[in-house]
Amino acid sequence: MQFHHHGYVSGEPRVLPAQGTGVDRPADLPDETDVLIVGSGPAGMLLAAQMSQFPDVRTRLIERRDGRLVLGQADGIQPRSVETFQAFGFAERIVAEAYNIGWMNFWGPDPENPGNIVRTSRTEDYGFKISEFPHLIVNQARVLDYFAEAAHHGPGRIVPDYGVEFLGLTVHDTGEYPVEVRVRCGGDDGEERTIRAKYVAGCDGARSGVREAIGRTHVGAMAAHAWGVMDVLVNTDFPDWRTKCAINAEAGNILHIPREGGYLSRMYIDLGEVADGDNRQVRHTPLEAVIQKANDILHPYTIDVKEVAWHSVYEVGHRVTDGFDDALDADRHPRVFLTGDACHTHSAKAGQGMNVSMQDGFNLGWKLGHVLTGRAPEELLSTYASERRPVAQQLIDFDREWSSLMARKPEEISDPQDLATYYLATAEFPSGFMTQYEPSMIVAGDAHQALAAGFPLGRRFKSAEVTRVGDGNAVHLGHHARADGRWRVYAFADRDAVGLASWADAVAPLFARYTPADGDVDAVFDVKAIYQQGFDEFEITDAPELFLPKVGPHALTDWEKVYAATPSAWCRTDIFDERELSRDGVVVVVRPDQYVAAILPLDAVDELGAFFAGNLLPTS
Ligand code: FAD
Repeated sequence: MQFHHHGYVSGEPRVLPAQGTGVDRPADLPDETDVLIVGSGPAGMLLAAQMSQFPDVRTRLIERRDGRLVLGQADGIQPRSVETFQAFGFAERIVAEAYNIGWMNFWGPDPENPGNIVRTSRTEDYGFKISEFPHLIVNQARVLDYFAEAAHHGPGRIVPDYGVEFLGLTVHDTGEYPVEVRVRCGGDDGEERTIRAKYVAGCDGARSGVREAIGRTHVGAMAAHAWGVMDVLVNTDFPDWRTKCAINAEAGNILHIPREGGYLSRMYIDLGEVADGDNRQVRHTPLEAVIQKANDILHPYTIDVKEVAWHSVYEVGHRVTDGFDDALDADRHPRVFLTGDACHTHSAKAGQGMNVSMQDGFNLGWKLGHVLTGRAPEELLSTYASERRPVAQQLIDFDREWSSLMARKPEEISDPQDLATYYLATAEFPSGFMTQYEPSMIVAGDAHQALAAGFPLGRRFKSAEVTRVGDGNAVHLGHHARADGRWRVYAFADRDAVGLASWADAVAPLFARYTPADGDVDAVFDVKAIYQQGFDEFEITDAPELFLPKVGPHALTDWEKVYAATPSAWCRTDIFDERELSRDGVVVVVRPDQYVAAILPLDAVDELGAFFAGNLLPTS
């Protein structure tokens, strides 16, 4: 973690100095704002944390609830989300308090006595096989707390405006603040008022009023299958109480998920097909009936429920919204966006909703920040819908398959191992690593993909270890990238680093074109060099100036942009081998939301310039 470059900091370094609108931020909702976020779920809170890194943009977040979420629904945190938490600065803390999924066990009917269940397989969970980050279970409310902290500790000092309900909006054709939003402050009898915004993000969940206001509709159907879910403290003789399990019994199915803290567990209990004309009556299934069903499925084991922290009954629905923004035609750029459950809903059992919703927020945040600070043209905002809608559709397709597999009856299962096999074979998708954005103004074509085969274009930058030359420590290259809205440019050197030096000379004016004169030289592009040599085989001061920028009011040298690939005592791997990088050198450009945007040889400086000319505006 880097700090002190704006002068000595004696307090908590994670609290960044307030800047721009974060200085003297008005406590009351203003009449006008640049960005209005509706809803403080995972999508809205991440978006607020991201916008706090753009303190020149006025952002408000309104939430109908009168305070923080106490009990959340979601609890499954996929490795891609933990990676994202790392970028927002709280991965270590949340990992420490979460339940870490190490195993997934499968149970089925005992062939000798089918009324009893037996363990049919024990599989290692996929988390660490796919990422350096784990697969976690932790309450959604805690995730929101951490994002709220990041929003408040960022330079924009954003805090949610609780107790404010969105009522409706109108998008006008003209005006600096074309979106007129009606809200009610202070509960049902509260005062109605109007706020005008440049952009509105509808992060208001499955029953989104913003979605309705822009005339978008959820397309899809509710499946005729109901599940009970409960977070419980129990005494039990079931030996896998502290291990995640899928249980397929004659009496029904359970997805069992241990929770953080060592005692609590969540059980998703299959309540079976919903009869035609049930008209949501299944949602009134009494808790006692759900507990009885759980005991029937677990037979011969039992649970003696001591406390139910939370429970619910729901029907599975698979729906995607017919558009993710309000731009109905190509003549106008979007002003209103939908994120998270407002534009995709599905079952809870693949643990996806919160995770995908956060990635929606991550995708949208930097784009709003860049456009509103004049860094990027407005058409950048159209890429939000074009990138995220296909991801939502893939999610629905995956979840439909996974939840139907989970809901099978034992007689429909020919091989007791097949659920375990499917779980592991498809793990990269739920982990969040299958998202691959198509070529666009922010993802270049794949002409040079072969130079960096291990960094597929359009996919998230998969970190690997390197040695930091300044201090000889092994570090993850990707972990240095914070969710601060900057582009990352990784210059992997050629063998003798002569090409790297020429590249650095040639690109410096290009980066300067887009960097404000009054900010740090790396305010827009965080450029790093990775040498093929060992960290002790050259002097860091021989690296080109581009990689040793002078930052802050004292113009202090940043010593953390030069890395070495040759394995050392602390770093056992070579990133060139790990990620199949050309030994002739290669430049990997990574977006502010961590997706690989361009791969170029060191001599393709004009191509690099053309790429950024397509998505950035020169400073005036
Ligand atoms: P939400 O979390 O729904 O947040 C919307 C916010 O908007 C709320 O705070 C709401 O109060 C506010 N709001 C709504 N209307 C207004 C208004 N008019 N004005 C102001 N504010 C408003 N996902 C996972 O990834 N992993 C899991 O393990 C998982 N388990 C789940 C278990 C259950 C039982 C359920 C039901 C869901 C589960 N999910 C899970 C799904 C997950 O909870 C959602 O996908 C996620 O919360 C969606 O986030 P969001 O930010 O889009 O919306």
